[in-house]
Amino acid sequence: MNDIDVLIVGGGISGLSVAWWLAQADISVEVWEQDTRLGGKIQSVRADGYLTEQAASMVLNFLPTVSQFMRESGFEAHKTLRADIANRYLVHEGRLLSLPMKLVPMIMSPLWSRRGKLRFLIEPFIPRRRDAQETVSEFITRRLGTEVLEKALGPFVTGTLASDPDKANAYSVLPRLTALERRYGSLTLGVFIHKVLRRRTAAITEAFSFQGGMSTLVELLAKTPGVHFRPGYTVIGLEKEKQGWRVTGKTPQGEQTIFARQVVLSTPANVAASLLEPLDSQLTKYLRGIETAPLSVVHLGISRSAIRHSLDGTGFLTPRKEGLPVTGCLWMSSLFPDRAPQGKVLLSAYLGGALQPAAVDWDDDRSVTAVMATLQRLLGIKGDPENVRIDRHFQGLPLYYGNYTGRLAEIDRHLKQLPGLHLDANYRGGVSVRDRIASACTTAERILSRA
Ligand SMILES: Cc1cc2nc3c(=O)[nH]c(=O)nc-3n(C[C@H](O)[C@H](O)[C@H](O)COP(=O)(O)OP(=O)(O)OC[C@H]3O[C@@H](n4cnc5c(N)ncnc54)[C@H](O)[C@@H]3O)c2cc1C
Repeated sequence: MNDIDVLIVGGGISGLSVAWWLAQADISVEVWEQDTRLGGKIQSVRADGYLTEQAASMVLNFLPTVSQFMRESGFEAHKTLRADIANRYLVHEGRLLSLPMKLVPMIMSPLWSRRGKLRFLIEPFIPRRRDAQETVSEFITRRLGTEVLEKALGPFVTGTLASDPDKANAYSVLPRLTALERRYGSLTLGVFIHKVLRRRTAAITEAFSFQGGMSTLVELLAKTPGVHFRPGYTVIGLEKEKQGWRVTGKTPQGEQTIFARQVVLSTPANVAASLLEPLDSQLTKYLRGIETAPLSVVHLGISRSAIRHSLDGTGFLTPRKEGLPVTGCLWMSSLFPDRAPQGKVLLSAYLGGALQPAAVDWDDDRSVTAVMATLQRLLGIKGDPENVRIDRHFQGLPLYYGNYTGRLAEIDRHLKQLPGLHLDANYRGGVSVRDRIASACTTAERILSRA
Protein backbone atom coordinates (compact mmCIF):
# COMPACT_ATOMS: atom_id res chain seq x y z
CA MET A 1 0.00 0.00 0.00
CA ASN A 2 1.31 3.44 -0.98
CA ASP A 3 1.92 5.91 1.77
CA ILE A 4 1.52 9.66 1.15
CA ASP A 5 1.20 12.86 3.16
CA VAL A 6 -1.94 14.35 1.59
CA LEU A 7 -4.55 12.94 -0.75
CA ILE A 8 -6.87 15.42 -2.42
CA VAL A 9 -10.13 13.97 -3.72
CA GLY A 10 -11.47 15.98 -6.68
CA GLY A 11 -9.50 17.85 -9.33
CA GLY A 12 -11.74 20.90 -9.78
CA ILE A 13 -10.38 24.37 -9.08
CA SER A 14 -10.75 23.80 -5.31
CA GLY A 15 -8.67 20.60 -5.22
CA LEU A 16 -6.10 21.90 -7.71
CA SER A 17 -5.64 25.10 -5.70
CA VAL A 18 -5.15 23.21 -2.43
CA ALA A 19 -2.53 21.08 -4.23
CA TRP A 20 -0.74 24.19 -5.50
CA TRP A 21 -0.52 25.80 -2.05
CA LEU A 22 0.64 22.51 -0.49
CA ALA A 23 3.30 22.04 -3.17
CA GLN A 24 5.03 25.14 -1.85
CA ALA A 25 5.98 22.96 1.16
CA ASP A 26 8.03 19.78 0.95
CA ILE A 27 5.33 17.09 1.33
CA SER A 28 3.93 14.38 -0.95
CA VAL A 29 0.58 15.24 -2.51
CA GLU A 30 -1.71 13.31 -4.85
CA VAL A 31 -4.92 14.47 -6.53
CA TRP A 32 -7.46 11.80 -7.44
CA GLU A 33 -10.03 12.93 -9.97
CA GLN A 34 -12.81 10.65 -11.20
CA ASP A 35 -13.01 12.26 -14.62
CA THR A 36 -10.37 11.66 -17.30
CA ARG A 37 -9.76 15.42 -17.41
CA LEU A 38 -8.98 17.85 -14.60
CA GLY A 39 -10.83 21.11 -13.96
CA GLY A 40 -14.26 19.92 -12.79
CA LYS A 41 -16.84 22.49 -13.80
CA ILE A 42 -14.25 24.68 -15.50
CA GLN A 43 -13.72 23.93 -19.17
CA SER A 44 -13.06 26.23 -22.13
CA VAL A 45 -14.26 24.99 -25.51
CA ARG A 46 -12.87 26.23 -28.81
CA ALA A 47 -15.08 25.61 -31.85
CA ASP A 48 -15.70 27.44 -35.14
CA GLY A 49 -13.54 30.36 -34.06
CA TYR A 50 -15.46 30.91 -30.79
CA LEU A 51 -14.07 30.29 -27.31
CA THR A 52 -16.83 29.49 -24.81
CA GLU A 53 -16.67 28.73 -21.10
CA GLN A 54 -18.68 25.89 -19.62
CA ALA A 55 -18.71 27.47 -16.13
CA ALA A 56 -16.44 30.24 -14.76
CA SER A 57 -15.63 32.76 -17.46
CA MET A 58 -13.41 35.06 -15.42
CA VAL A 59 -11.86 35.80 -12.05
CA LEU A 60 -12.96 38.97 -10.31
CA ASN A 61 -10.22 39.56 -7.80
CA PHE A 62 -9.83 41.90 -4.88
CA LEU A 63 -8.06 39.50 -2.49
CA PRO A 64 -4.33 39.89 -1.75
CA THR A 65 -4.04 36.06 -1.39
CA VAL A 66 -5.15 35.58 -5.00
CA SER A 67 -2.75 38.30 -6.21
CA GLN A 68 0.03 36.49 -4.31
CA PHE A 69 -0.98 33.17 -5.93
CA MET A 70 -0.91 34.73 -9.41
CA ARG A 71 2.47 36.34 -8.77
CA GLU A 72 4.25 33.41 -7.11
CA SER A 73 2.90 30.81 -9.55
CA GLY A 74 4.09 32.82 -12.54
CA PHE A 75 0.53 32.57 -13.97
CA GLU A 76 0.44 36.38 -14.34
CA ALA A 77 2.19 35.90 -17.67
CA HIS A 78 -0.79 33.91 -18.99
CA LYS A 79 -3.46 36.32 -17.80
CA THR A 80 -5.74 38.36 -20.09
CA LEU A 81 -7.39 41.35 -18.51
CA ARG A 82 -11.03 42.05 -19.14
CA ALA A 83 -11.51 44.94 -21.60
CA ASP A 84 -11.77 48.30 -19.90
CA ILE A 85 -15.55 48.72 -20.15
CA ALA A 86 -17.47 50.39 -17.39
CA ASN A 87 -21.12 49.78 -18.29
CA ARG A 88 -23.17 47.22 -16.42
CA TYR A 89 -26.74 46.95 -17.57
CA LEU A 90 -29.93 46.00 -15.80
CA VAL A 91 -33.24 45.26 -17.47
CA HIS A 92 -35.66 47.97 -16.42
CA GLU A 93 -39.24 48.12 -17.76
CA GLY A 94 -38.33 45.97 -20.74
CA ARG A 95 -35.22 47.95 -21.71
CA LEU A 96 -31.54 47.97 -20.83
CA LEU A 97 -30.43 50.66 -18.41
CA SER A 98 -26.79 51.24 -17.49
CA LEU A 99 -26.20 51.29 -13.73
CA PRO A 100 -23.34 53.56 -12.60
CA MET A 101 -20.90 51.84 -10.25
CA LYS A 102 -19.92 55.00 -8.32
CA LEU A 103 -22.01 55.62 -5.21
CA VAL A 104 -23.39 59.12 -5.92
CA PRO A 105 -24.22 58.63 -9.65
CA MET A 106 -25.73 55.26 -8.70
CA ILE A 107 -28.07 56.88 -6.17
CA MET A 108 -29.03 59.52 -8.77
CA SER A 109 -29.81 56.90 -11.47
CA PRO A 110 -33.28 57.04 -13.11
CA LEU A 111 -33.54 53.38 -12.10
CA TRP A 112 -34.82 54.51 -8.69
CA SER A 113 -38.04 56.29 -7.88
CA ARG A 114 -37.84 59.41 -5.71
CA ARG A 115 -38.90 57.27 -2.75
CA GLY A 116 -36.13 54.78 -3.59
CA LYS A 117 -33.53 57.59 -3.64
CA LEU A 118 -34.71 58.89 -0.27
CA ARG A 119 -34.38 55.38 1.11
CA PHE A 120 -30.64 55.48 0.29
CA LEU A 121 -30.32 58.71 2.26
CA ILE A 122 -31.87 57.33 5.45
CA GLU A 123 -29.84 54.09 5.32
CA PRO A 124 -27.03 55.36 7.63
CA PHE A 125 -29.64 56.05 10.34
CA ILE A 126 -31.07 52.52 10.40
CA PRO A 127 -29.79 50.70 13.50
CA ARG A 128 -27.54 47.70 12.97
CA ARG A 129 -28.87 44.23 13.74
CA ARG A 130 -27.49 40.70 13.53
CA ASP A 131 -29.72 37.73 12.85
CA ALA A 132 -27.83 34.68 11.60
CA GLN A 133 -30.94 33.48 9.76
CA GLU A 134 -31.49 36.71 7.84
CA THR A 135 -32.00 36.19 4.11
CA VAL A 136 -30.66 38.46 1.36
CA SER A 137 -34.19 39.80 0.79
CA GLU A 138 -34.67 40.60 4.47
CA PHE A 139 -31.24 42.19 4.86
CA ILE A 140 -31.43 44.38 1.75
CA THR A 141 -35.03 45.41 2.40
CA ARG A 142 -34.15 46.31 5.98
CA ARG A 143 -31.14 48.41 5.02
CA LEU A 144 -31.95 49.79 1.57
CA GLY A 145 -35.61 49.10 0.82
CA THR A 146 -37.49 46.84 -1.59
CA GLU A 147 -36.49 48.75 -4.73
CA VAL A 148 -32.79 48.02 -4.30
CA LEU A 149 -33.63 44.39 -3.64
CA GLU A 150 -35.91 44.00 -6.65
CA LYS A 151 -33.91 46.03 -9.14
CA ALA A 152 -30.26 45.40 -8.20
CA LEU A 153 -29.29 42.94 -5.45
CA GLY A 154 -32.01 40.41 -6.29
CA PRO A 155 -30.87 40.21 -9.95
CA PHE A 156 -27.25 39.91 -8.74
CA VAL A 157 -28.12 36.92 -6.55
CA THR A 158 -30.27 35.18 -9.19
CA GLY A 159 -28.04 36.09 -12.15
CA THR A 160 -24.57 35.42 -10.76
CA LEU A 161 -25.24 32.83 -8.04
CA ALA A 162 -28.34 31.10 -9.52
CA SER A 163 -29.84 31.53 -6.06
CA ASP A 164 -33.12 32.73 -4.53
CA PRO A 165 -32.73 35.96 -2.51
CA ASP A 166 -35.73 34.97 -0.36
CA LYS A 167 -33.83 31.89 0.87
CA ALA A 168 -30.12 32.76 0.48
CA ASN A 169 -28.35 33.62 3.72
CA ALA A 170 -27.27 37.27 3.68
CA TYR A 171 -24.06 36.70 5.69
CA SER A 172 -22.84 33.85 3.46
CA VAL A 173 -23.87 35.31 0.12
CA LEU A 174 -23.10 38.99 0.69
CA PRO A 175 -20.18 38.82 3.14
CA ARG A 176 -18.71 42.17 2.14
CA LEU A 177 -22.00 44.07 2.43
CA THR A 178 -22.98 42.49 5.73
CA ALA A 179 -19.48 43.22 7.06
CA LEU A 180 -20.03 46.91 6.26
CA GLU A 181 -23.07 46.96 8.54
CA ARG A 182 -21.14 45.17 11.26
CA ARG A 183 -18.14 47.51 11.05
CA TYR A 184 -19.65 50.88 10.22
CA GLY A 185 -23.33 50.44 11.05
CA SER A 186 -24.20 51.46 7.49
CA LEU A 187 -23.65 50.17 3.95
CA THR A 188 -23.57 53.55 2.20
CA LEU A 189 -21.26 55.03 4.83
CA GLY A 190 -19.13 51.88 4.72
CA VAL A 191 -18.81 52.01 0.91
CA PHE A 192 -17.79 55.65 1.15
CA ILE A 193 -15.16 54.97 3.86
CA HIS A 194 -13.84 51.98 1.88
CA LYS A 195 -13.49 54.10 -1.26
CA VAL A 196 -11.36 56.56 0.68
CA LEU A 197 -9.30 53.77 2.30
CA ARG A 198 -8.84 51.95 -1.00
CA ARG A 199 -7.44 55.10 -2.54
CA ARG A 200 -4.92 55.19 0.29
CA THR A 201 -4.01 51.51 0.32
CA ALA A 202 -4.31 51.04 -3.48
CA ALA A 203 -5.99 47.60 -3.12
CA ILE A 204 -6.41 46.05 -6.58
CA THR A 205 -9.71 44.99 -8.08
CA GLU A 206 -9.35 43.39 -11.46
CA ALA A 207 -11.24 40.98 -13.68
CA PHE A 208 -9.24 38.58 -15.78
CA SER A 209 -9.16 35.30 -17.63
CA PHE A 210 -6.28 33.51 -19.33
CA GLN A 211 -4.94 33.23 -22.87
CA GLY A 212 -6.96 30.31 -24.18
CA GLY A 213 -9.64 30.74 -21.49
CA MET A 214 -10.09 29.43 -17.97
CA SER A 215 -8.90 25.93 -18.97
CA THR A 216 -5.42 27.43 -19.18
CA LEU A 217 -5.51 27.98 -15.42
CA VAL A 218 -6.40 24.30 -14.97
CA GLU A 219 -3.60 23.21 -17.33
CA LEU A 220 -1.07 25.38 -15.50
CA LEU A 221 -2.16 24.03 -12.11
CA ALA A 222 -1.96 20.48 -13.46
CA LYS A 223 1.77 21.04 -14.02
CA THR A 224 2.45 21.97 -10.39
CA PRO A 225 5.83 20.38 -9.62
CA GLY A 226 5.81 17.72 -6.91
CA VAL A 227 2.07 16.94 -7.17
CA HIS A 228 0.91 13.63 -8.67
CA PHE A 229 -2.34 13.98 -10.61
CA ARG A 230 -4.38 10.82 -11.10
CA PRO A 231 -7.25 11.40 -13.55
CA GLY A 232 -9.69 8.51 -13.84
CA TYR A 233 -9.40 7.69 -10.11
CA THR A 234 -12.74 7.62 -8.24
CA VAL A 235 -12.59 7.48 -4.46
CA ILE A 236 -15.16 4.99 -3.15
CA GLY A 237 -14.16 4.44 0.47
CA LEU A 238 -12.56 6.20 3.43
CA GLU A 239 -11.52 4.50 6.66
CA LYS A 240 -10.06 6.14 9.73
CA GLU A 241 -6.77 4.69 10.96
CA LYS A 242 -4.63 5.61 13.94
CA GLN A 243 -2.25 7.94 12.09
CA GLY A 244 -4.35 8.87 9.08
CA TRP A 245 -6.71 7.53 6.45
CA ARG A 246 -7.03 4.43 4.32
CA VAL A 247 -8.52 5.50 0.99
CA THR A 248 -9.89 3.14 -1.63
CA GLY A 249 -10.56 4.09 -5.21
CA LYS A 250 -11.54 2.66 -8.56
CA THR A 251 -8.66 3.34 -10.92
CA PRO A 252 -7.86 2.45 -14.54
CA GLN A 253 -5.66 -0.33 -13.06
CA GLY A 254 -8.46 -1.74 -10.87
CA GLU A 255 -9.28 -1.09 -7.21
CA GLN A 256 -6.44 0.51 -5.21
CA THR A 257 -5.96 1.42 -1.58
CA ILE A 258 -3.49 3.95 -0.22
CA PHE A 259 -2.67 5.35 3.18
CA ALA A 260 -2.73 9.15 3.46
CA ARG A 261 -1.84 11.04 6.61
CA GLN A 262 -4.38 13.73 5.68
CA VAL A 263 -7.25 13.82 3.19
CA VAL A 264 -9.01 16.77 1.55
CA LEU A 265 -12.43 16.19 0.05
CA SER A 266 -12.82 18.71 -2.79
CA THR A 267 -15.90 17.07 -4.28
CA PRO A 268 -19.49 18.37 -4.37
CA ALA A 269 -21.18 18.17 -0.94
CA ASN A 270 -23.35 15.15 -1.81
CA VAL A 271 -20.26 13.09 -2.76
CA ALA A 272 -18.51 14.09 0.48
CA ALA A 273 -21.71 13.10 2.33
CA SER A 274 -21.71 9.60 0.80
CA LEU A 275 -18.02 9.03 1.58
CA LEU A 276 -18.48 10.18 5.17
CA GLU A 277 -21.70 8.26 5.82
CA PRO A 278 -20.01 5.29 7.56
CA LEU A 279 -17.98 7.68 9.75
CA ASP A 280 -20.47 10.30 10.95
CA SER A 281 -24.15 10.22 10.05
CA GLN A 282 -24.83 13.69 11.53
CA LEU A 283 -22.07 15.28 9.44
CA THR A 284 -23.52 13.49 6.43
CA LYS A 285 -26.92 15.03 7.21
CA TYR A 286 -25.49 18.57 7.25
CA LEU A 287 -23.71 17.98 3.93
CA ARG A 288 -26.74 16.36 2.27
CA GLY A 289 -28.86 19.29 3.34
CA ILE A 290 -26.94 21.62 1.01
CA GLU A 291 -29.13 22.20 -2.03
CA THR A 292 -27.81 22.96 -5.51
CA ALA A 293 -29.28 24.96 -8.36
CA PRO A 294 -29.37 23.61 -11.91
CA LEU A 295 -28.67 26.02 -14.75
CA SER A 296 -27.90 26.18 -18.47
CA VAL A 297 -25.58 28.48 -20.35
CA VAL A 298 -26.61 29.25 -23.92
CA HIS A 299 -23.71 30.59 -25.99
CA LEU A 300 -24.68 32.37 -29.18
CA GLY A 301 -22.35 33.43 -31.99
CA ILE A 302 -23.97 36.24 -33.96
CA SER A 303 -22.86 38.56 -36.74
CA ARG A 304 -22.02 41.99 -35.28
CA SER A 305 -23.99 43.70 -38.05
CA ALA A 306 -27.17 41.82 -37.01
CA ILE A 307 -27.24 43.56 -33.58
CA ARG A 308 -28.47 47.12 -33.09
CA HIS A 309 -27.08 47.57 -29.54
CA SER A 310 -23.48 48.77 -29.24
CA LEU A 311 -22.70 46.02 -26.64
CA ASP A 312 -20.62 48.61 -24.78
CA GLY A 313 -20.71 46.80 -21.45
CA THR A 314 -20.12 43.58 -19.57
CA GLY A 315 -23.68 42.32 -20.15
CA PHE A 316 -26.92 42.54 -18.18
CA LEU A 317 -28.83 41.11 -15.23
CA THR A 318 -32.60 40.63 -15.10
CA PRO A 319 -34.87 41.53 -12.16
CA ARG A 320 -37.43 38.83 -11.40
CA LYS A 321 -40.30 41.30 -11.97
CA GLU A 322 -39.38 41.66 -15.65
CA GLY A 323 -40.67 38.12 -16.18
CA LEU A 324 -37.90 37.09 -18.59
CA PRO A 325 -36.46 33.55 -18.73
CA VAL A 326 -32.84 34.79 -19.01
CA THR A 327 -31.39 35.60 -15.57
CA GLY A 328 -28.34 37.31 -17.02
CA CYS A 329 -26.15 37.55 -20.10
CA LEU A 330 -22.42 38.13 -20.47
CA TRP A 331 -21.26 39.89 -23.63
CA MET A 332 -18.18 37.70 -23.81
CA SER A 333 -16.62 39.23 -26.91
CA SER A 334 -16.99 42.71 -25.39
CA LEU A 335 -15.20 41.46 -22.25
CA PHE A 336 -12.52 39.51 -24.15
CA PRO A 337 -12.44 40.48 -27.86
CA ASP A 338 -10.62 37.28 -28.90
CA ARG A 339 -13.63 35.10 -27.97
CA ALA A 340 -15.33 35.48 -31.39
CA PRO A 341 -14.09 35.64 -34.99
CA GLN A 342 -13.74 39.04 -36.69
CA GLY A 343 -17.13 40.62 -37.36
CA LYS A 344 -18.94 38.27 -34.94
CA VAL A 345 -19.91 38.52 -31.28
CA LEU A 346 -20.28 35.92 -28.56
CA LEU A 347 -23.13 36.27 -26.03
CA SER A 348 -23.49 33.81 -23.14
CA ALA A 349 -26.96 33.79 -21.55
CA TYR A 350 -28.01 32.01 -18.35
CA LEU A 351 -31.26 30.08 -17.91
CA GLY A 352 -32.64 28.30 -14.86
CA GLY A 353 -31.19 28.61 -11.38
CA ALA A 354 -33.11 28.19 -8.15
CA LEU A 355 -36.07 30.25 -9.33
CA GLN A 356 -36.60 28.32 -12.56
CA PRO A 357 -34.91 24.92 -12.13
CA ALA A 358 -36.99 23.22 -14.84
CA ALA A 359 -35.27 25.31 -17.53
CA VAL A 360 -32.20 23.04 -17.38
CA ASP A 361 -34.38 20.28 -18.89
CA TRP A 362 -35.52 22.38 -21.84
CA ASP A 363 -34.31 20.96 -25.13
CA ASP A 364 -31.98 22.95 -27.38
CA ASP A 365 -34.77 24.48 -29.48
CA ARG A 366 -36.72 25.70 -26.49
CA SER A 367 -33.60 27.06 -24.77
CA VAL A 368 -32.42 28.98 -27.83
CA THR A 369 -35.91 30.28 -28.62
CA ALA A 370 -36.31 31.57 -25.04
CA VAL A 371 -32.92 33.29 -25.08
CA MET A 372 -33.34 34.76 -28.56
CA ALA A 373 -36.80 36.15 -27.70
CA THR A 374 -35.20 38.03 -24.77
CA LEU A 375 -32.14 39.20 -26.68
CA GLN A 376 -34.11 40.29 -29.74
CA ARG A 377 -36.17 42.57 -27.52
CA LEU A 378 -33.29 43.98 -25.50
CA LEU A 379 -30.50 44.16 -28.07
CA GLY A 380 -32.39 44.48 -31.34
CA ILE A 381 -31.09 41.32 -33.02
CA LYS A 382 -32.14 40.49 -36.58
CA GLY A 383 -32.26 36.87 -37.75
CA ASP A 384 -30.92 33.70 -36.13
CA PRO A 385 -27.62 33.01 -34.37
CA GLU A 386 -24.89 31.55 -36.59
CA ASN A 387 -23.42 29.41 -33.86
CA VAL A 388 -25.02 27.80 -30.78
CA ARG A 389 -23.59 25.84 -27.88
CA ILE A 390 -25.45 24.87 -24.71
CA ASP A 391 -23.86 23.77 -21.44
CA ARG A 392 -26.20 22.21 -18.90
CA HIS A 393 -25.27 21.92 -15.22
CA PHE A 394 -27.74 19.69 -13.39
CA GLN A 395 -25.89 20.37 -10.13
CA GLY A 396 -24.75 23.88 -11.03
CA LEU A 397 -24.03 25.84 -7.89
CA PRO A 398 -24.47 25.15 -4.17
CA LEU A 399 -27.13 27.29 -2.53
CA TYR A 400 -26.16 28.97 0.72
CA TYR A 401 -29.68 28.75 2.14
CA GLY A 402 -31.06 29.18 5.66
CA ASN A 403 -28.71 29.52 8.62
CA TYR A 404 -25.74 28.64 6.44
CA THR A 405 -23.03 29.89 8.78
CA GLY A 406 -24.66 27.73 11.47
CA ARG A 407 -24.60 24.72 9.14
CA LEU A 408 -20.89 25.28 8.38
CA ALA A 409 -20.15 25.69 12.10
CA GLU A 410 -21.85 22.32 12.78
CA ILE A 411 -19.82 20.74 9.95
CA ASP A 412 -16.62 22.11 11.51
CA ARG A 413 -17.66 20.83 14.94
CA HIS A 414 -18.08 17.31 13.53
CA LEU A 415 -14.81 17.51 11.55
CA LYS A 416 -12.95 18.01 14.85
CA GLN A 417 -13.77 14.35 15.59
CA LEU A 418 -12.10 13.33 12.30
CA PRO A 419 -8.55 14.72 12.60
CA GLY A 420 -6.65 14.96 9.32
CA LEU A 421 -9.84 15.18 7.25
CA HIS A 422 -10.59 18.48 5.48
CA LEU A 423 -13.42 19.72 3.29
CA ASP A 424 -12.62 22.32 0.64
CA ALA A 425 -15.07 22.92 -2.19
CA ASN A 426 -17.45 25.58 -3.43
CA TYR A 427 -20.09 24.97 -0.75
CA ARG A 428 -17.72 26.53 1.81
CA GLY A 429 -16.34 30.06 1.66
CA GLY A 430 -17.73 31.16 -1.70
CA VAL A 431 -18.37 29.67 -5.14
CA SER A 432 -16.11 31.96 -7.19
CA VAL A 433 -12.69 30.95 -8.46
CA ARG A 434 -11.24 33.81 -6.39
CA ASP A 435 -12.80 32.43 -3.22
CA ARG A 436 -11.74 28.88 -4.11
CA ILE A 437 -8.07 29.91 -4.46
CA ALA A 438 -8.16 31.91 -1.21
CA SER A 439 -9.97 29.19 0.73
CA ALA A 440 -7.45 26.61 -0.56
CA CYS A 441 -4.66 28.68 1.00
CA THR A 442 -6.36 28.49 4.40
CA THR A 443 -6.94 24.74 4.02
CA ALA A 444 -3.28 24.19 3.06
CA GLU A 445 -2.14 26.18 6.11
CA ARG A 446 -4.35 24.01 8.34
CA ILE A 447 -2.91 20.85 6.78
CA LEU A 448 0.66 22.05 7.13
CA SER A 449 0.13 22.99 10.77
CA ARG A 450 -0.69 19.30 11.42
CA ALA A 451 1.98 17.80 9.13
C1 LIG B 1 -22.48 28.20 -15.21
C2 LIG B 1 -21.48 28.64 -14.20
C3 LIG B 1 -20.82 29.87 -14.37
C4 LIG B 1 -19.87 30.28 -13.44
N1 LIG B 1 -19.22 31.48 -13.64
C5 LIG B 1 -18.24 31.85 -12.78
C6 LIG B 1 -17.43 33.00 -13.06
O1 LIG B 1 -17.60 33.68 -14.08
N2 LIG B 1 -16.45 33.32 -12.17
C7 LIG B 1 -16.21 32.57 -11.06
O2 LIG B 1 -15.30 32.92 -10.29
N3 LIG B 1 -16.92 31.45 -10.79
C8 LIG B 1 -17.92 31.07 -11.63
N4 LIG B 1 -18.62 29.90 -11.40
C9 LIG B 1 -18.32 29.12 -10.18
C10 LIG B 1 -17.12 28.18 -10.34
O3 LIG B 1 -16.91 27.80 -11.67
C11 LIG B 1 -17.34 26.91 -9.50
O4 LIG B 1 -17.84 27.22 -8.21
C12 LIG B 1 -16.01 26.15 -9.32
O5 LIG B 1 -15.46 25.89 -10.58
C13 LIG B 1 -16.27 24.85 -8.55
O6 LIG B 1 -15.03 24.25 -8.29
P1 LIG B 1 -14.88 23.03 -7.28
O7 LIG B 1 -13.52 22.50 -7.46
O8 LIG B 1 -15.31 23.43 -5.92
O9 LIG B 1 -15.97 21.96 -7.77
P2 LIG B 1 -16.00 21.11 -9.12
O10 LIG B 1 -15.52 21.91 -10.25
O11 LIG B 1 -17.39 20.54 -9.19
O12 LIG B 1 -14.95 19.93 -8.87
C14 LIG B 1 -15.24 18.78 -8.09
C15 LIG B 1 -14.45 17.64 -8.69
O13 LIG B 1 -14.59 16.47 -7.88
C16 LIG B 1 -14.60 15.34 -8.75
N5 LIG B 1 -15.15 14.19 -8.02
C17 LIG B 1 -16.42 14.00 -7.60
N6 LIG B 1 -16.52 12.83 -6.95
C18 LIG B 1 -15.29 12.26 -6.95
C19 LIG B 1 -14.77 11.05 -6.41
N7 LIG B 1 -15.54 10.18 -5.72
N8 LIG B 1 -13.45 10.75 -6.61
C20 LIG B 1 -12.64 11.62 -7.29
N9 LIG B 1 -13.11 12.80 -7.82
C21 LIG B 1 -14.41 13.11 -7.63
C22 LIG B 1 -15.48 15.81 -9.90
O14 LIG B 1 -15.34 15.01 -11.05
C23 LIG B 1 -14.97 17.24 -10.09
O15 LIG B 1 -13.91 17.31 -11.01
C24 LIG B 1 -19.58 29.47 -12.32
C25 LIG B 1 -20.23 28.23 -12.16
C26 LIG B 1 -21.16 27.82 -13.08
C27 LIG B 1 -21.83 26.49 -12.92
